Amino acid sequence: MSQRSAAEQLARDLPAMPYVGGQWRESSAAPAFDVIDPVTERRLTVVTEADEAAVDRAVAAARAALDDGEWGRMSGAARGQLLHAFAQLLEERAEDFADLESLDVGKPGVEPRVIDLPQAVATFRHFAGWADKVTGQSIPTGGYAGRPTLSYTVREPIGVVAAITPWNSPTMIGSWKLAPALAAGCTVILKPPEDAPLTSLLLAQVAERAGFPPGVLNVLPGRGPTTGTLLIEHPGVDKISFTGSPETGRIVAAAATNGFRPVTLELGGKSPQIVFADADLDAAADGVALGIFANQGEVCAAGSRIMVAREIHDEFVERLAARAAKVVLGDPFDPGTTMGALVNAKQRDRVLRYIRIGREEGARLVTGGERPDRAGYFVEPTLFAGAANDMTIAREEIFGPVGTIIPFADDRQAVAIANDSRYALAATLWTTDLSRAHTLAGRVRAGAVAVNGWSPLDPALPWGGSGFSGQGRELGQAGLEANTTLKTITVVL
Ligand code: ADP
Repeated sequence: MSQRSAAEQLARDLPAMPYVGGQWRESSAAPAFDVIDPVTERRLTVVTEADEAAVDRAVAAARAALDDGEWGRMSGAARGQLLHAFAQLLEERAEDFADLESLDVGKPGVEPRVIDLPQAVATFRHFAGWADKVTGQSIPTGGYAGRPTLSYTVREPIGVVAAITPWNSPTMIGSWKLAPALAAGCTVILKPPEDAPLTSLLLAQVAERAGFPPGVLNVLPGRGPTTGTLLIEHPGVDKISFTGSPETGRIVAAAATNGFRPVTLELGGKSPQIVFADADLDAAADGVALGIFANQGEVCAAGSRIMVAREIHDEFVERLAARAAKVVLGDPFDPGTTMGALVNAKQRDRVLRYIRIGREEGARLVTGGERPDRAGYFVEPTLFAGAANDMTIAREEIFGPVGTIIPFADDRQAVAIANDSRYALAATLWTTDLSRAHTLAGRVRAGAVAVNGWSPLDPALPWGGSGFSGQGRELGQAGLEANTTLKTITVVL
């Protein structure tokens, strides 16, 4: 059996239904939705959606595991062991996860193997280590009514966390939400994306095998406007962690605010990759190409505004175009493929619409711009040069393989252009000048600035943005603490 057929079989064999309180729950009354392969445009499987009853049951199971079950009483060290066991099983099934992710999302097979799965495993391991280090402080005060006091804080799990993930990298982004929440002692209800739910169903199977008590992790497949809405509006949810578009993020934030619940939002970006004249141009061209073409450009941190110093502009555009020319579009299961298909027809049409707008607004199309004549939601790797930062293709997140190249004159103008965006997620500086790197890293508005490497990922590093890129942080200590609530205790001695 070919690798593709084996992956398709795996997709058909998955329990395609909600996983609630440690049980797979089929319901003939609930609606179902098709999962489509973006490369063949064929149906992979049909998944039963979590309806209102399933959402209610998941919230009740998550609450019970926290309040009455063994999870709520478990030591941090024991939680850490479960997270380690989970990471181990994830690693053992990495090939299956990678194949399902390629099948479902359309990304070339190498990417989940070198990025998504190793990152997900590392994230569970990192937070396994945090589980017994969730500590407070002891705080000296002036006492109370003339008597000495002992005051201290404890960090308690925030409660039932609703984790809503996007379709571009559901396994990895799922791990960013699950691992810190579980390390902190929370219970989680994961709502995977309807466009790519398969690996999240496999995650539930792995959690079950790892030995998490029932109700600690629940997975509710379903569409955003139905299952998603039920979940974010449910009064039993204590915190929402969402990654997706600003439009949906606004709905999620409103629901969180209405219920006075904390929310973490990661909403993408229009991240600058700034190439200075003193940069190592080969390394920069490789990094910039990776930053806009990896995962078909469907990446929150995609370096979609490619800012290039005027004196090297033409040379750099040539180098970048040469890299684009080497991209091989194709089936993710063909070993030669370096770029797959966009996730669905809607996304492909959205990307093609932006390409049309780029042309109309007068940017120069250097390469790509077309939809190849074949099945699947493919779009060629595309570069626009001579763009201005006020063009639509420099302002709006395209979420596809479309780079907008903008020239700049000097450091001041580079910072001004970089910061002239409603997004502020990530930025990359390409320079060999140490002083320039550190000075400008401080001036560029972004949640994460990288120098001489596009978007280095590590579970120890906080991740998130501001403005239209969202609020709050995932990963690192900040990501752990975002799943806790601080309690102050004072004893009058
Ligand atoms: P896209 O438009 O590219 O699908 P979204 O931001 O809408 O991106 O999707 C991200 C995640 O948010 C998905 O899991 C999706 O199902 C979910 N979602 C979409 N709409 C809503 C909603 N109204 N309430 C809650 N979740 C939603």
